Amino acid sequence: MPRAPFRRKSGTRETSQLVRLAEGLSASKSRTEDVYWERELERAVLALLEAGDDEAINRALDRAHDAPGGVFDTLADVVESLSESMTFMTEAGPQRIALFCAPILIWGRTKIPARPLPANVLRDLSVQIGAHIFADGVRFALCDTLFAPDQLPTSYSQTRELLGELKAAIASGRPLKMDPQLLGEAPDVVCDMRMIVGAVQAPEGAPLYAWQTMTTPIEDAMKSALEAWRTQGGAVLKPLLVGFPFQLELPRTFFGACREADLTSRAWSIGAGVAYLEAMTQTPPAQLTATVGGCWGDGLEEYRIGFSIGDATEVAHGCVWPLVTGEDEEAQAIDAIEGALKAAGVGNIVVLSDRLPLEFCDDCGAPYYPNRDGEMLHAELPDAAEGTSVHLH
Ligand SMILES: [Zn+2]
Repeated sequence: MPRAPFRRKSGTRETSQLVRLAEGLSASKSRTEDVYWERELERAVLALLEAGDDEAINRALDRAHDAPGGVFDTLADVVESLSESMTFMTEAGPQRIALFCAPILIWGRTKIPARPLPANVLRDLSVQIGAHIFADGVRFALCDTLFAPDQLPTSYSQTRELLGELKAAIASGRPLKMDPQLLGEAPDVVCDMRMIVGAVQAPEGAPLYAWQTMTTPIEDAMKSALEAWRTQGGAVLKPLLVGFPFQLELPRTFFGACREADLTSRAWSIGAGVAYLEAMTQTPPAQLTATVGGCWGDGLEEYRIGFSIGDATEVAHGCVWPLVTGEDEEAQAIDAIEGALKAAGVGNIVVLSDRLPLEFCDDCGAPYYPNRDGEMLHAELPDAAEGTSVHLH
């Protein structure tokens, strides 16, 4: 008789303890009180991370979600911070190391590369990231891979494990070799993101990023760092990404950078979708119709935008506009979507008031997109489009 694999059942005691400590920290009204709660909460989270018990952490986050006030954010902050950064002692005194991510928004007519980065590219990227993003005197190491989002660590403890491996890479002065077998396939989609990932180390309390050391206002300092990174880092990546228009985003500490890139990619994917249709079907943006509709599960989950050519009822391409927590202002989201469509030069914009179903294709899992009549359809390029790779099912 086949036996179920043994699984350590993670205790509800740990979960309750995390939520209780997060409630304490979130209810604290002074720095003095914070210090106690923070230390206790960090100790509890760290023990679970080191035991690889993501189940208990996720359950606590779920429960904190239903708690009033800022309990969820408090707990999530501590969990993310302990997953993406750590301190340790060296002969030179205490050091802090942080995982960072340099997001790249990208689209293409064929499969977007996710691949090992050649040694010369890694070297040149290190020069540029060191010159424009990091503070003087920090040490850092990169992973030798251009990651698709799906290939990043999927749990908090795995994230911390990657940080540990990068800590060793910094000490050895070499990039971290990733095993392509373990990373899995990147999905084949028109518009996506790629990431350069690494870790940066400095004495505890010292600045990690260049903009922390500048005397100009922070916003200007970050903007000039981004501009330099886009120009110089972009030039290094270009030969690797021929035929794939891309845009570099500001490298920052891991979770914040990923979240920020998710937000930026929403408008980018609309521009990319319009450019893709123009490239594949020779349709100028002014002749496109974009239909925007809200898709509902338990609540409003996301907007989907179906692109049709001229008056056609078929959907040629589609984009998803996910909503993030705390962003339930429907009008705001629609304004932003319309703004992005107008910026891309789309001639005709239809906003549906219907509550659309959150439907996906049974065969390939692709989302369905609305046409102007409010029908949810599989996006298919017209037959005449060059080099089509349409799904025929
Ligand atoms: Zn399909």
